[in-house]
Order: sequence, then structure tokens, then C-alpha cells
Amino acid sequence: MELDKMDENDWKYHGEGNKSLVVSHVQHPRVLRLLKYPAEDSENPPQIQNIVDFSSNVMSSLLGEKFIHSGEVVKLPLEFVRQLSIKVQHQRPAWRCDKVMDIYSGCALCLPNLTSPALHQPTHTPPLCIEIKPKCGFLPSPKHVSKDIKTKVCRYCMHQHYKVANGKWKRRSFYCPLDLFSGNRQRMHFAIKHLIEEPQNNFKVFKEGSDESPDMNSLLHHLRPYFLHANNRINSHVTRFAMVRTFLFFSGADGTDCDLPPLNTSVFPGSRGLPSDSVLFRILQTQMLDTLDIEGLYPLYRQVEQHLQDFPKERTRLQIEGPYNEAFLEKLQKCPAEDDGSVEYAVAKVHQYRVAMTAKDCSIMVALVQRQLRDFRPPAFSYSASILDLDPKPFDSIPRQLRLDQKIVTCYLRTGGALP
Ligand code: ATP
Ligand code: MG
Ligand code: MG
Repeated sequence: MELDKMDENDWKYHGEGNKSLVVSHVQHPRVLRLLKYPAEDSENPPQIQNIVDFSSNVMSSLLGEKFIHSGEVVKLPLEFVRQLSIKVQHQRPAWRCDKVMDIYSGCALCLPNLTSPALHQPTHTPPLCIEIKPKCGFLPSPKHVSKDIKTKVCRYCMHQHYKVANGKWKRRSFYCPLDLFSGNRQRMHFAIKHLIEEPQNNFKVFKEGSDESPDMNSLLHHLRPYFLHANNRINSHVTRFAMVRTFLFFSGADGTDCDLPPLNTSVFPGSRGLPSDSVLFRILQTQMLDTLDIEGLYPLYRQVEQHLQDFPKERTRLQIEGPYNEAFLEKLQKCPAEDDGSVEYAVAKVHQYRVAMTAKDCSIMVALVQRQLRDFRPPAFSYSASILDLDPKPFDSIPRQLRLDQKIVTCYLRTGGALP
């Protein structure tokens, strides 16, 4: 990519989240991820190198390097960025337009396009990519929460009620992350069924690099060639089963279905049956670094904040805003088991909480490619799994987290968990 010869016509809108907008190259398997910020706030240029460092030095050791592509920071001509922002504007969903693309810093992240056919070996069927944003897969311990309901209903499910009550979504999703992370085959099926039925922003399907609306019929249609051999007739059950199997077992970032146990093997013991090197297991383990819940963490956050007010220079030593290097990772991994009252303990817990927040917000991208193994055998598929969206969550977002938590729980208790 020649950075001085960038042409906006070589790039097209690919997708966006709350924090960034992604464009993909029309020929090469690459994307540019440009940050966004609230329309009224153009003061603070985003610290984009921090994002790369956090992903490559911190998240990748926790989640497994094989799943992660951290990309690199590129400096783009401002005129290119400006033209690009004009070009993509009409394709952006209206509900995302409360934020604007950063057109001032000229910085972006360049990443491999994980949905691009060109990234995968040439085959007669283009790869099919499935993106799942799984959210938090465990319940907090009763020790730290003030409302009993938090130990019974998961955060995602309560948040659904809040979002419907506030008009963000018209219908609630019946997807529950506890099902997806359960390791229990039936519950995982259920989770995938509900994701397909009401994808919101937790489920996306890309075919030939483009986002497709994943209604059940079109999804089945796309998946048919990939999973046909599982059973000669394809139905929704078989498809979901194949997906569950894939999610459960892929351990490496790449593999084939030959690496997977046969379809009829019952390898789902109890509720924590995720294989320890599977992508879901790694994500769940990292999420569980949030051991205190926001309620138990908040006093420690206040302790750190007070300490920084008294000793402003400590901000650097304690690596509050990075750098996200090995020393940062060590701080959170060498946390004392008990609260000894030290600021080091408090900082380690805050760092752990922030890492867990990132793991609760990431997505998994699975690319499936159909291959012909040998003439006499039915086609098989290869898969590769990646984890994306591993941005650090700001230190000062913690008070906001507490307020949001209180709002969600209050709303849930007020409506008695019932939705109109
Ligand atoms: P969120 O609101 O979930 O925090 P975000 O603003 O941080 O999202 P990303 O999730 O990183 O942004 O990117 C937005 C979308 O762009 C993703 O959901 C995914 O569909 C697509 N995307 C991001 N990175 C890549 C990539 N390397 N290859 C292909 N698609 C990508
Ligand atoms: Mg995202
Ligand atoms: Mg994000």
C-alpha cells in the first residue's frame, strides 16, 4: 500500500461499531479501521498506538496469539481521509451517526481483512465468515453485588430489557451468553438459534467479504455446501450443530473438520465443558478477570483516583493510561491474592477489570472454507478463527460503568423482568 497514492475509490464501506469505522480495499485483503468520536468532541486525538500495543502485548498473551491480528498504525493523507468520510457517509446506519469519523489525525489501523476471500486458499466456494460478539459469559459472585438479581439473570439479558425500554431495539433478543459459553451442546444450539433470529449487533454473516442479512433461510442456504456432508439433508438443527461443533472445538486459529471429533461423540460434560484451548474458553477466562464485579471494584478505583490526586506523578509508574507493555501485563498478573490495602493491589484489580471489559466486548470471526479432501470423500471445510476489537477501555470509564450497571438493574427490577 503506497500511502502517498491513496485513492478513496479503492476503498469501500465495510462496517462500523461504536468506536470505529472500517473500510475494505476493493482488491487487496486489507481493511482500514478509523476511529470515531462524538460529533461535539474533536479535541482529543485518539491514542491509536495504544490500541495496537494493548492488543499485541496484553490481550494476545491472555487470549492466545494465534487468534489475534493487531495490525499496524498507518499515517494517511488528510485529503484521502476527508474524501473517504464523504464517500462512506451515506452507507452508514443512521443510529451510528451520533459519532463522526476522525478526519484530523490522519491515523488509522491497517489490518488483514478477515472476511476477504483473497485471504484464504482459492477454492470453488468463497469463504463464509460468521462474526459473533458474544458478550459476558458468566454471573458475578454474590459476595460483591448488592442486588440478588445480578447473580440470577445475566448482564446481557438485563441489558436487553433496558435497551428495549429505552427504544434502542424494538424487540429483545433471546440470545443468552451463558448458553453460548456453557459448553453444553443443547444450550449452545439455543444460543446460535437466538442469534440468528434476532442478530442485533451480536451476529453477522459475510459472504465474499460483504455483510449479508442473516435470516435463517439465507443463512441455511449459504451454509448448505459447508455442512452438507454432516448429514445428507440439511436442516436448521444440523447447521447449528455444525456451528456449535466448530465453535467448541476449534482450538488452533486454523484447522479442518478432520481435527474435530466425530459428530456423534458426546463430549460435553456438565456446564463447563469448553475445551481449554478453544476460542470461547480463552475469552471466558479473560472475562473472568473481573472477579469483584463493578460494585466491588469501584471502591478500589476510588482509592487509585485519590492516590493519583495526591501523587500525580504516580500515574506514569502505575501505567494508568499505558504504555501497554509487558510491565503492564505483569502488574495485572502478579496481583496479590488478598487486598493488602496497597495502591498496587487496587491498580492491579483496576487493570484486570479493564482487560475483562475488553474481553466482554470483543468479537469472534470464523471463516469457513469448503475443500475437496479426496475424490471419494465428501467435501470438508477448513476454518480459521480470529478475535477482533481488542481496544483498551479507558480508566475513567469505570464510574460510567457503575452508573450504567445501576440503571440496568433498576430498570430490570422495575419492570419485573417483563417486557411489553
Ligand atoms: P464495538 O462497538 O463493538 O466496540 P468498534 O467500534 O470497536 O466496535 P470493531 O468491532 O473493531 O469496531 O469494527 C467494526 C466492525 O468492522 C466489526 O464488527 C467487523 O464486522 C468489521 N471489522 C473490524 N475489523 C475487521 C477486520 N480485520 N476484517 C474484517 N472485518 C473487520
Ligand atoms: Mg466491535
Ligand atoms: Mg470496540
